[in-house]
Amino acid sequence: MEISSKVKLNNGLEMPWLGLGVFLSKDGTEVENAVKTALENGYISIDTATIYQNERGVGTAINESGIPREEIFLTSKVWNSDQGYQTTLAAFDESLEKLQTSYLDLYLIHWPKGKRSVETWKALEELYGKGKIKAIGVSNFLVHHLEDFLPECKIIPAVNQVEFHPELIQPELLQYCQNRNIQLEAWSPIMKGKVNDIPLMKDLSTKYGKTPVQIVLRWDIQKGVVTIPKSVTRERIISNADIFDFELNDKDIAKIDRLDQNKRIGPHPDYISF
Ligand code: NDP
Repeated sequence: MEISSKVKLNNGLEMPWLGLGVFLSKDGTEVENAVKTALENGYISIDTATIYQNERGVGTAINESGIPREEIFLTSKVWNSDQGYQTTLAAFDESLEKLQTSYLDLYLIHWPKGKRSVETWKALEELYGKGKIKAIGVSNFLVHHLEDFLPECKIIPAVNQVEFHPELIQPELLQYCQNRNIQLEAWSPIMKGKVNDIPLMKDLSTKYGKTPVQIVLRWDIQKGVVTIPKSVTRERIISNADIFDFELNDKDIAKIDRLDQNKRIGPHPDYISF
């Protein structure tokens, strides 16, 4: 495995196991430098969203990187207030314009919004059919959301991007998605840096000669979960991708699994106020 290694999604598209997250990376120089640093150091996947308000900077950095667009895997997400059929089509066009591209690799429904998400999905299915998105998916969908949603879908989501880290593993959701060939993707994978404070991670860090962050990102991939750590710090962007030269053994994976406390650092999808 290497930084450009990919997993095949349920429609045959290949998605890199590792990407750069850009939530809270400021539009302009900050996000542009982060994306350029990532691309210069082997990342080929970038995860943004309309609500991050940095799509323009992401697009500029990709264009200026000199890397052909088709070698990059670009994800964005439709925001809650844009959900619905027509509004999603309009929001998608706006994202393409800001990202300065003619297509997206992956477009996600950012949060579940009941029946409105079914209308949103119809728009995504249409855009997918026209070839403007290579894969479509959801984010923050729990099992009960998927149970309601999947019977309404002509196309099964390729990806479900959810909060996932050692203190929030949601094994039932992971199993549910794996059984249906929906790729799970981890947001806040390193708990905003707090995995550095977990004693087990410090022990494993010494054992494997890797940082706690690298241990956790490697654990993601070995569990079959795509991961997208965010950083705007050059050294961290580089170090977060240095996870392809070692392997955790099964016992240590099980030890990390036992850290699960079903504890969120972000909002619970059933109780969002936005
Ligand atoms: P992460 O767990 O990726 O943590 C990011 C934070 O950790 C930043 O403050 C960063 O600081 C810091 N950091 C990065 N690398 C290191 C390191 N090696 N050592 C110590 N600290 C480090 O959290 P995010 O919430 O950003 O999640 C990742 C991505 O997931 C997002 O950027 C976004 O793309 C996506 N996401 C999706 C959501 C959804 O609803 N679908 C919700 C939230 C996130 P610095 O930048 O200063 O280096």
